[in-house]
Amino acid sequence: AAERVRSFGTSIFAEVSALAIQHAAVNLGQGFPDFAGPEWLKVAAIEAINADLNQYAPYLGLPRLREAIAATWQANGWRALDPAHEVTITSGATEALFAATQALINPGDEVIIFEPFYDAYVPDVVMAGGVPRYVRMRPPHPAGPQTWHFDPAELAAAFSPRTRLLFLNSPHNPTGKVFTPAELAQIAALCIEHDVLVIADEVYDQIIFDGRTHIPIATLPGMWERTLTINSTGKTFSLTGWKIGYVVAAPDLSAALRSAHQWITFASATPLQAAVAVGLEHAAERGYYEQLRVEYLERREVLRQVLHDVGLPPLPVEGSYFMLADISQTDCATDRDFCRWLTSEVGVAAIPLSPFYANHDDLPLLVRFCFAKKLETLRAAAGRLEIMN
Ligand code: PMP
Ligand code: GLN
Repeated sequence: AAERVRSFGTSIFAEVSALAIQHAAVNLGQGFPDFAGPEWLKVAAIEAINADLNQYAPYLGLPRLREAIAATWQANGWRALDPAHEVTITSGATEALFAATQALINPGDEVIIFEPFYDAYVPDVVMAGGVPRYVRMRPPHPAGPQTWHFDPAELAAAFSPRTRLLFLNSPHNPTGKVFTPAELAQIAALCIEHDVLVIADEVYDQIIFDGRTHIPIATLPGMWERTLTINSTGKTFSLTGWKIGYVVAAPDLSAALRSAHQWITFASATPLQAAVAVGLEHAAERGYYEQLRVEYLERREVLRQVLHDVGLPPLPVEGSYFMLADISQTDCATDRDFCRWLTSEVGVAAIPLSPFYANHDDLPLLVRFCFAKKLETLRAAAGRLEIMN
């Protein structure tokens, strides 16, 4: 293998999913719904295939889908987008992240990443020859902030003349944090001051709770020119296997992204793009987004109660479909030991938090559970977890 990939290993999601299958565990590890996506979207995909929308899509994505994304931004009051020059379809957010980093980073450029982080960011930066700089977020604390938080001085100190890019993920995987307007303003001010670009990973923008509203950092003053907003319809429509993602960015940033994208996948699955366009065109009028949030709220409450009842104190979830639980009161020394034991002996799979960190000093003892699951799956997990009492 080339030196560039030699340190990568296997993603924790693949590792835990394999272990879950081996032990027939209830899988609350890898983040994907175990319930079906909307029937009307599946029908739209079948109709698109039967209408012979089966050859290459334009490399920028189907015009109808790019228009539907622009209409969604407009309806949310975010911005009027030019679908021809400011919206690009990718094969999931994963390709968008790779294409964006390839398009923007020169060897030696520094990239600021909040830690814990979604695991793909670091290999993406490394494959582009960039150098990650981490800013630690700290968990909620009884005597301090009730949410995950960072020290603004530490963030400011992470900027250098070599800083090119900052990754922002809100709602955040794995912590469930939604960055506050004040935090977004702090981050924006520093990026403007140091002329730094932002990759805003907003794949969970529709999965947000307790009256919060999602604010794309691209809509803050001075940020449109320097932000690539990445999204994935897999989360919003519970169809993660379709891998239809997109990037919204100003024309020059979109042009850079498209230069990379054309040589990575060229184009994404045509009939699935057509179906997702139908989804975005009709989701609001069908009340789909409200229904999604209501259903996730119920699942969140069920999992919170389950974890609480078995002595694994859950942390608050502001957005996303992940819940962290505190395992410091168990006798496992590491989060990986705990997850291995939980999967093989209790029969419930969860993801250790340490793979979401580069620096392993002073790690909190936390594990991540996914609640994008049927209520019966969550109840099955509850039944197995009972032996911990
Ligand atoms: N970013 C985050 C924060 C995610 O949680 C995920 C999915 N786990 C992705 C990106 C990748 O999205 P996709 O499946 O569309 O490639
Ligand atoms: N995003 C999903 C998660 O956080 C996993 C995606 C993947 O397996 N690459 O669990």
